[in-house]
Amino acid sequence: MSRFEKPYRGRLAPSPTGLLHLGHARTFWVAQQRAKENEGTLILRNEDLDSTRFKMEFVPAMIEDLRWFGFEWQEGPNCGGPFAPYNQSERMHFYHAALEKLRIGGFIYPCTCTRKDIRLAASAPHSENDEPIYPGTCRQNRQSATGNRKFSWRFRVPDGETVAFNDGNRGAQAFVAGRDFGDFVVWRHDGVPAYQLACVVDDAAMQITEVVRGEDLLISTARQILLYRALGLEPPAFFHCELMKDDSGVRLAKRHNALSLRLLRENGETPESLRRKWF
Ligand SMILES: [Zn+2]
Repeated sequence: MSRFEKPYRGRLAPSPTGLLHLGHARTFWVAQQRAKENEGTLILRNEDLDSTRFKMEFVPAMIEDLRWFGFEWQEGPNCGGPFAPYNQSERMHFYHAALEKLRIGGFIYPCTCTRKDIRLAASAPHSENDEPIYPGTCRQNRQSATGNRKFSWRFRVPDGETVAFNDGNRGAQAFVAGRDFGDFVVWRHDGVPAYQLACVVDDAAMQITEVVRGEDLLISTARQILLYRALGLEPPAFFHCELMKDDSGVRLAKRHNALSLRLLRENGETPESLRRKWF
């Protein structure tokens, strides 16, 4: 029986920005195990919003690599399901509706800062392992004042408020808004919804009950909890996995091309041999 009140729904949410990597596969494998243990449904969501980074040809390769490794999902871009479409690029109307809700509720403001502006702002402290904390330059901005300048939409965090949640893997977590993370972008100046917003909107719409992902996203979870609240949505449970490190303790990243599932497969590795190294 499921330990959750609602039927368990988990997701794999890869971004087709390159070949699938062994590090992703491990997190996804945990996600699949969680869904199986809870007799739940696993969905595949293709996070293809960032058209400057992703390439269409990676999608079939991604699906093939996932299948080869032993992943099985019940809903997804290739097989459909009750919450279709499962490609984020086809879900823009959901993100626009959420943005409008945030705007009307006064939760966001237009920000004309460039990355460089933020880096140069003398008062901007850097939170640990994360991007610089936004100095609040545009907090009082009105949309009418942006003129012809490009702007992003930024979420105003409640300074000093502790955002706490109980992580299924790592236990009690707490982050202080304005100290551990600052006002964050929900809509990019190039018209693309930011990861934080798209992720929350889709996890809620697809009725995901538990989000399994890498521990590098712990602070993002605090941001997303604020978004759930602003949008009047109930957050799912969270389960953050340890990230794979190489022999020298450096986090595995995409630059470790030798660890793409594609290459490992070509070099004669099997899914079983790769999984034996993890557990
Ligand atoms: Zn700004």
